[in-house]
Amino acid sequence: MTDRAACVARDAADPLRRFRDLFHIPAGLIYLDGNSLGMMPKAAPARLDGVITGEWAEGLIRSWTDAGWWDQPRSVGAKLARLVGADADEVVATDSTSVNLFKLLVAAVKLRPGRRVILTDPDNFPTDIYIAQGIAAMLGDVTVKVVPLADIPAAIDESVAVVTLSHVDYKTSAINDMAALTARAHAAGALALWDLSHSAGAIEVDLHAARADFAVGCGYKYLNGGPGAPAYLYIRRDLQAAAQPPIAGWWGHSEPFAFATDYRPATGISRFLCGTQSPLAMAALDTALDIWSDVDMKALRAKAIGLTELFIALVETHCAGHKLRLAVPRDAAHRASHVSFHHPEGYAAMRAMRARGVIGDFRSPDVMRFGFTPLYTSYADVFDAAAHMADIFATRAYDQAEFRAREKVT
Ligand SMILES: *Cc1c(COP(=O)(O)O)cnc(C)c1O
Repeated sequence: MTDRAACVARDAADPLRRFRDLFHIPAGLIYLDGNSLGMMPKAAPARLDGVITGEWAEGLIRSWTDAGWWDQPRSVGAKLARLVGADADEVVATDSTSVNLFKLLVAAVKLRPGRRVILTDPDNFPTDIYIAQGIAAMLGDVTVKVVPLADIPAAIDESVAVVTLSHVDYKTSAINDMAALTARAHAAGALALWDLSHSAGAIEVDLHAARADFAVGCGYKYLNGGPGAPAYLYIRRDLQAAAQPPIAGWWGHSEPFAFATDYRPATGISRFLCGTQSPLAMAALDTALDIWSDVDMKALRAKAIGLTELFIALVETHCAGHKLRLAVPRDAAHRASHVSFHHPEGYAAMRAMRARGVIGDFRSPDVMRFGFTPLYTSYADVFDAAAHMADIFATRAYDQAEFRAREKVT
């Protein structure tokens, strides 16, 4: 079996090695939670300091134009577009993933009058389901159908306006076939909306190749845009003129500075902006996205597979007999960049690992989840995390009241 020296040698030969140096790595920490909150790019503090002391303190109102604040949703969106296989004018950075889901789902339903079903699966991220349910309650005549993923293709019929799914499952890491499911939706006359929160920055995403209609995604996970970073939304260009924004704010107006009484949507994707965004948050995301401009996505994918394969092998060897059950696809081709195991003591075990400086997270009811962010996670990190996990199970170190007591936010 692999030893630590072999992992260190793999790190030395890693083509993505230099990217780890672009992030602040807290001393002594093994961070396997970059899929929940990405690490801080080292360039972020200086960039934010410049925004605060220069653009804000000195530039004040002038910075909306002089520092490009007004244009940030589009300029940051253009950088995001490259990561998801879209054109620069098909993506804007704005609002939260939840709010963007609301805007696009309502627009999708309006584009398919006569069809009154929003279709999703029960393992989709909760906010995605709740937002759809809220829209159904708001519109009155729309229903949300929640059917297991395997049954989704058969459930797409002429009643379905839009199918909304995650590209990568937040618990099981399973990669959904975006192209095939989108084609299935289109064959039935429905639209497809994809949530890229656990895929963009983890695996290659090609919205154009999949013919996706709409997409949303998160800025603070694999993209490292900082806590509460702006999210993004995508609308395929040929749908933009017909898609009506349900939140008709002044940032989406065709002439925001005419201060007209009546709303007229801007042409293009800008109509899906609604109100003022934070230039501080935008600057942090913009800085983080610059790192991606020369990342080889094939190398990223290869490393994600290398890290996850190694972790699974080490855990299954060294924790054998402790009732851990793999919760992600065993075939790397179907798995994104995180690995989960079921264990009845999963909650306490994750707390015990955290006490040893290994941070992953727990997802109810019994899932221990470890994110492997190929830009900065090393093979040595994987080895050390697995060693801690083996020790925690071998010694039952999790079997303590302090680890069993539930925190409010985990
Ligand atoms: C993280 C995540 C979100 C987050 O939504 P917010 O509005 O940023 O809280 C939404 N969808 C998925 C699939 C996620 O993984």
